[in-house]
Amino acid sequence: MGNANLYALLETGFPADRSAVAIETPQRSYTWDDVDRLSAQYANLLANLEMPAQARVAVQVEKSPEALMLYLGTLRAGLIYLPLNTAYREAEIEYFLNDAQPAVVFCTSNNHEWVQRLATEAGASYVYTLDEDGSGSAADMAAKQPDQFHTSHNQQDDLAAILYTSGTTGRSKGAMLSHGNLGSNAQVLHEYWGWQNTDVLLHMLPIFHVHGLFVAAHGALLAGARMIWLPKLDIDQALHYLPQCTVMMGVPTYYVRLLADPRFTREVCANMRLFVSGSAPLLPDTFNEFRERTGHTILERYGMSETVMLTSNPYLAEHGERIAGTVGRPLPGVGVRVVDEQDKELGVGEIGNVQVRGPNVFCGYWRMPDKTRQEFTEDGWFRTGDMGVWGAVKTESSGKASVANTVPDDYLSIVGRSKDLIITGGYNVYPKEIESVIDQMPGVAESAVIGIPHPDFGEAVVAVIVPRDGAEIHPPSVQAQLKTQVANFKVPKRVYVVDHLPRNTMGKVQKNVLRDTYKEL
Ligand code: AMP
Repeated sequence: MGNANLYALLETGFPADRSAVAIETPQRSYTWDDVDRLSAQYANLLANLEMPAQARVAVQVEKSPEALMLYLGTLRAGLIYLPLNTAYREAEIEYFLNDAQPAVVFCTSNNHEWVQRLATEAGASYVYTLDEDGSGSAADMAAKQPDQFHTSHNQQDDLAAILYTSGTTGRSKGAMLSHGNLGSNAQVLHEYWGWQNTDVLLHMLPIFHVHGLFVAAHGALLAGARMIWLPKLDIDQALHYLPQCTVMMGVPTYYVRLLADPRFTREVCANMRLFVSGSAPLLPDTFNEFRERTGHTILERYGMSETVMLTSNPYLAEHGERIAGTVGRPLPGVGVRVVDEQDKELGVGEIGNVQVRGPNVFCGYWRMPDKTRQEFTEDGWFRTGDMGVWGAVKTESSGKASVANTVPDDYLSIVGRSKDLIITGGYNVYPKEIESVIDQMPGVAESAVIGIPHPDFGEAVVAVIVPRDGAEIHPPSVQAQLKTQVANFKVPKRVYVVDHLPRNTMGKVQKNVLRDTYKEL
């Protein structure tokens, strides 16, 4: 039987000429040979630690080509890659390490001291550093390793990665993704989006998330296509490199930022064939303005950590139009249905819960069998937590007026979230988590955290706080305190102090009322 190891699959796409450039940064280039040799060195480093099968490799490092080599090395060694958002602070990392119990942890040298302490407490045997410039104890150790490695032989169901998604009840869940999940999705997207080895991908997304790592990087690697590798969104650099690129992937914020720069013109995009947007809803205004400015139509797709990619607007014109406000059709092999609260399928135009199945759908939540059972129907469909609709919404809906009447019946639109998730600049914020921290601050009686529309971030986090009798709450100090406890993107942009929160007859806080009150801000 063939090897289902994801690296073995990606490698089938590497070009015959291994001296060609695979990754280019403003500082230096890496050939396909380098990718093979460096990932082999990281694989050897990990394999020599003689960790048990399915050991977790936790990684909280800045984006660099070496960080990608560490990921590929982890795959080659047959271990489980566990990427962590670089914005996470001590208290957050402590939870992930205790929950995942990695055998080895990679961090930046800045954080080494506290990561070492937490990692040891969580039972990890090794901690290495890897910095943005590719240096660190991990790089030093890897450099001493042989540069050949026989990629581990894996089955489709063997785990390749665990991605943590924040939980609505405050507890983060680790989505377990297998080599088969990731490999099947990479192959489907390869075909569907017409990847070629002549493509050049502008890669500016973070690589601790499904979008940058599994959609963008896998796409280029499997195609044997060159990547322009930037540590983050940088408009000057993007404008410099775009003329030689053919593909770009971004969260909606990236497109808003590009449009805000008058230097972003049709000429800059002359070589491009595909702009992909996802992770959060792309506003039809952005979609339209982008088309007018560049002549290109952004392709919006929909997916999540638990499932990788699910739907996509058409790539080929002969398959249909790309329609603003929709996420297109289910990808080949992916099942999508929209159901009511009893899991009964709804018709075209009726808003309901989105459920999915397919070879891309994850294997369950790490050490949460009950939660996993709850999130799947008896007949094996995963409950995404998103609300969606096929075609155009039937009745006049207050939620999403943007769904045009011309939407074909087999196009899906995401109209909201049944869970209370806020997506700001492509990052997920679960209100419950921030509320819990605020509620513990002195003088706070209770709080509600909501997302309000924001032209740049999609949504902005806003906190509404009720003080205890006689207490005074000072919004800037609430923000300052939060900054030391949670990642910056989770810190409310605005904090309001009110006498009481609006509640329904069941005593539940009416967040929709709050959202309405503050939406104009
Ligand atoms: P994550 O697991 O961080 O990728 O977040 C997944 C969630 O992002 C999904 O469940 C959706 O709520 C949202 N999402 C992803 N892509 C889109 C999109 N194109 N439009 C609207 N929401 C999206």
